[in-house]
Amino acid sequence: MTVRPLGVDPSGCFIGGQWRASASGQTLALGDPSTGEVLCQIARGGAEDIDQAVEAATAAMAGDWGTTTAVERGRVLYRIGQLVLEHIDALAELEARDVGKPLKQARADVVALARYMEFYAGAADKIHGSTIPYLDGYTVYTLRQPHGVTGHIVPWNYPMQIIGRSVGAALAMGNAAVLKPAEEACLTALAFAELAHRAGLPAGALNVVPGLGAEAGAALTSHPGVHHISFTGSVGVGKLVQQSAAQNVVPVTLELGGKSPQLVFEDADLDAALPFLVGAGIQNAGQTCSASSRILAQRGIYERVVAEMTTRYRALRVAPAMADLDVGPLISNRQKAIVEGFLNDGDDLEVVAQAALPPDLPAGGAYVAPTLFANVPRDHKLAQDEIFGPVQVIIPFKDEADALAIANGTPYGLVASVWTSDGARQMRLAKALKVGQVFLNNYGAGGGVELPFGGTGLSGHGREKGFEALYGFSSLKTVAALHG
Ligand code: NAD
Repeated sequence: MTVRPLGVDPSGCFIGGQWRASASGQTLALGDPSTGEVLCQIARGGAEDIDQAVEAATAAMAGDWGTTTAVERGRVLYRIGQLVLEHIDALAELEARDVGKPLKQARADVVALARYMEFYAGAADKIHGSTIPYLDGYTVYTLRQPHGVTGHIVPWNYPMQIIGRSVGAALAMGNAAVLKPAEEACLTALAFAELAHRAGLPAGALNVVPGLGAEAGAALTSHPGVHHISFTGSVGVGKLVQQSAAQNVVPVTLELGGKSPQLVFEDADLDAALPFLVGAGIQNAGQTCSASSRILAQRGIYERVVAEMTTRYRALRVAPAMADLDVGPLISNRQKAIVEGFLNDGDDLEVVAQAALPPDLPAGGAYVAPTLFANVPRDHKLAQDEIFGPVQVIIPFKDEADALAIANGTPYGLVASVWTSDGARQMRLAKALKVGQVFLNNYGAGGGVELPFGGTGLSGHGREKGFEALYGFSSLKTVAALHG
């Protein structure tokens, strides 16, 4: 099959406003998660391509892009958002095929990408410095300025959403971006570059170099011409990225994994909670950093939570991405083997539900049956480690203190939700949960363009999304004038 994202040759890098082959001329095979077949060849970018991309971005900062006003940057971003929406069908199909996600999820991701462009278009000219009262005879003010060249390393699970939130905010603040998408799924990154170009983004303001993490990725994080790194991915690589960026003392935003809990109390509206309890776990086949992989249920409601979730699990339909049912394949057979390893680690646990895999699934696809474990000890590997597959565990708890201890009892801290009708408990837990986002009587896996997002502990540091991201993608300068 030949895939041409918006007419673009998928084996190209986008550097300085032009499509070109990687400097080495080498390519990588891009797999189709639904079938295991090869979708197309992508560029195997390396250090030389990253050098050229950083050079193009540096030139853009010294040229047209560096002098583009905030209002004009906003207009360009808005046009990109409009073009994204005009191409929703093509982009959704690309993302669905590339990632293996059901088409409706991919369409939601396109809408989110457009929303990021709209949000940051509107925000570009609304962020500014301040004046500071100081000594007599002084005027002191602050300037909020772009870092310069920003590096963006993106994983395969939500390419469009993560590009939107990080590249969108960086461009709004006037940085020039170099994007290294994941080698497992990069087609919408290429399509996005093409649309940004068509929308009038000046050459060099956005450059895309596909390739392997250890090659193009490592070259980007250690490059002395890069002034900020935004990384979304695994904890292990996040540590490498931070070490690498430290060589040049460059700030890093790390959006890593999670083991996000939903706390369900006896006074909760369980009917309202149930779609979120299951949906936030199996969305994108569980390959969501903010997937809710732990359900904490109070003893008095525990049996009902298990029974109701079991019914919902048994009804889940697993299918290739383009069949657009509930759960698609995992990104690769490598990821499938990792998730199956976790399922084996759960041999000693009670499997209460497993969705059936239809017999006609393509043999080479990376399908895993959604699996629900109950009565899981809080310290069990499956209750502690990020699985990144359609697997959830239910853990019973006694009271509020017990729930909080379990919720905070992993090294991660990304998202949590609390289901209770007790307002005071909502407030207490919102303060005490060690996470970057708390949802009260709802759960927003990955959602909320406007909502600052990021983690604590092994989930990372720094915040993206919302206005908060604009502070991360800019630096603050203090100007003190003594005029008497
Ligand atoms: P990964 O860390 O293997 O890869 C992520 C990106 O890093 C890819 O583009 C990869 O090429 C690149 N990379 C790999 N090695 C590198 C290196 N040495 N230097 C620079 N870049 C390198 O992660 P993954 O398997 O693609 O994604 C899954 C992980 O991402 C999960 O742990 C998940 O929780 C996390 N994630 C987090 C968020 C979030 O917002 N917190 C969002 C999505 C995914």
